[in-house]
Amino acid sequence: MQSISDLVRDVPDFPRPGVLFKDISPLLADAAGFNACIEALAEPWRQARVQAVCGIESRGFIFGAALAQALGAGFVPVRKKGKLPPPVVGIDYGLEYGTDRLEMGVGAVSRGERVLIVDDVLATGGTLEAARKLVDQLGGEVVGASVVIELAALGGRPRWTSPSPVHALLLS
Ligand code: AMP
Repeated sequence: MQSISDLVRDVPDFPRPGVLFKDISPLLADAAGFNACIEALAEPWRQARVQAVCGIESRGFIFGAALAQALGAGFVPVRKKGKLPPPVVGIDYGLEYGTDRLEMGVGAVSRGERVLIVDDVLATGGTLEAARKLVDQLGGEVVGASVVIELAALGGRPRWTSPSPVHALLLS
């Protein structure tokens, strides 16, 4: 079996010059690799009594939904601006260039519900921290976050302001 890291393709200068894009499509397409990836993502959280996995649009949906199944938890989408019907809560956050907005449905997470936040890549860290703030705003208890790949050179980890752990499967 190919290792999980061998199934992630590096694409230089996509979608913009200077960005090394992490293409996870080969990993998703490989049955054994994808299964191993979800098992490895789930492993640190087996005893954490996770009740809801919040996956961030759009690649966080893929890993998050599979991880929710593996952990016996529900899945809640954290969506880009304007995709969810009202009522929603939203948060604007800074990207490397410009800003973006994430939204969640009001009531999508219950007060005190134990939530794990999931995305494919941790880069500058703004996206993961914005999702954490949204879950917090809804009253959820964030037990931590999981990403498949952390781009360590971009220094995103300190943007996560909660003491709950951030787990990365692959460091790049
Ligand atoms: P950031 O907020 O900078 O941590 O960016 C994380 C989000 O942007 C994630 O949802 C990723 O899907 C996406 N992303 C950022 N950089 C990359 C990259 N080099 N390759 C693939 N996805 C990326």
